[in-house]
Amino acid sequence: MVRTRFAPSPTGYLHIGGVRTALFCWLFARKHGGQFILRIDDTDQERNVEAALAPILEGLKWLGIDWDEGPGIGGPHAPYYQSQRADRYRAAVEKLIASGHAYRDYATTGEIQAEREAAQAEKSSFVYSRRFMAETPDDCKRFEAEGRQGVVRLKMPREGVLVLNDLIRGEVQFDWAREQDHVIQRTDGSCLYHLANVVDDEDFEITHVIRAEEHLSNTPRQVFMIQALGYRLPQYAHLPFVAEPGSKTKLSKRKLDKYLKNKDFADLVERGRKIAERIGHPTEADAFNPVIVDFYESVGYLPEAIVNYLALLGWSLDDKTEHFTIQNLIDNFSLERVGKSPASFDCQKLWAFEDRHFQLLPLRKKLELAAPFLRKAGFANASKERIQAVLLAAGDRIKVAGDILAFDEFFLRDGAFPYDEKSLEKHLKKDEAWELLKKFRDRLAAADPFDVPALEKLMHDFTAAENIKTNQIIHALRVAVTGKSVGLGLFDTLAILGKAACLARIERALGMIGIC
Ligand code: GLU
Repeated sequence: MVRTRFAPSPTGYLHIGGVRTALFCWLFARKHGGQFILRIDDTDQERNVEAALAPILEGLKWLGIDWDEGPGIGGPHAPYYQSQRADRYRAAVEKLIASGHAYRDYATTGEIQAEREAAQAEKSSFVYSRRFMAETPDDCKRFEAEGRQGVVRLKMPREGVLVLNDLIRGEVQFDWAREQDHVIQRTDGSCLYHLANVVDDEDFEITHVIRAEEHLSNTPRQVFMIQALGYRLPQYAHLPFVAEPGSKTKLSKRKLDKYLKNKDFADLVERGRKIAERIGHPTEADAFNPVIVDFYESVGYLPEAIVNYLALLGWSLDDKTEHFTIQNLIDNFSLERVGKSPASFDCQKLWAFEDRHFQLLPLRKKLELAAPFLRKAGFANASKERIQAVLLAAGDRIKVAGDILAFDEFFLRDGAFPYDEKSLEKHLKKDEAWELLKKFRDRLAAADPFDVPALEKLMHDFTAAENIKTNQIIHALRVAVTGKSVGLGLFDTLAILGKAACLARIERALGMIGIC
């Protein structure tokens, strides 16, 4: 039985790189009919764990990355929070001491530092002398009588090589001599993360440790403990990190200013911001950042598009297949096809995935996703028929659910929308334009039916009768009925709004420029 785990620290946000790790763990477990466990690494937690965990759990749920054991659902190996497992860790420390794989050490930080500096001065690498290692209970008493406080350190091998077969990186060798006698328990009795990690992986029967590559260097000390404790060695797979747009440096949530210089990234943020502002979602950098999953959820991206995109950040099926449903990913995922080098965050690609997945949705589903955005923006009364008509007419101009708000002219009351001053000036204030508009208004008033073919014919007859080109009237007409100079197809716009609204709006626009 394959068992993988994702082990986030409660940081208050779900990083795109972190969730890509979770996704790969999850896909691997699902592919093999195994289980995916969520463990919370909160050993060093100072703030409120539940609050800092909520956005992580929420983000995973939104993406459909469900866990078989962990927070909220428990499981046979509960608790799944490291902060609640201290007894297990202490027992492992005692076992390591008893078997001679760890020792109590009474050196002060200053003494260790002095040894380190001496090694530096001699240009040799630092190897702790173990001068304050307690070998017997009497040693402990003696050191303690001197007022010293003990930590527990691993008694690491000082020669030889550890050879591991990483499922992504292949054979990796580590020189034991490069390892230190790492501390596993502090003076206050609390245990350090690497020990906790090893104990949990054993207790939770984890078979595959799939995690970010920055943990590769932690692996030797973990393997040392696993072997010393007689645990089963899991298989390791270290994933390359997700890199910044257009570079090989690790993507960071703190470098937004730098990323905003990339046009695609800036466009992604800008498009999101327009939506967020309309629904009252915070838009300051901390809360609104494409490096964090919440960004996508808040502006209406599709979880399946984000999952498709994230899966291809480092994994591929072949050189050509890009579009995957979640089930396709589960069926096809393999660690062998995860690349070794960092994949950089590509906004255009993400955008293309979102577009593709959104256009494939049935109208009913698009409606279901767009309606809440209208509600949040204050259009609680927007009718289902109206929303559907706008979605249909807009086609692929709506790529994320929140894009519906760019077409607010269909949901605002006739007398409520602001006219864009520049557009009024440019398209309506010319004599010819408003005169034509007045005449066209009279034709509209008589139009029956009021649908796209009829309106097209009406326009055709009107331009022929007036001997004008269509663009001498359509811009003025659009600005009059929508307040804007860009939007959906003009006849779609008129038909969706309906005759009464069109006439009322034209009236209002003429009033705005002083013509009644
Ligand atoms: N809590 C660690 C992290 O967030 C997980 C380490 C591991 O997967 O072993 O990176």
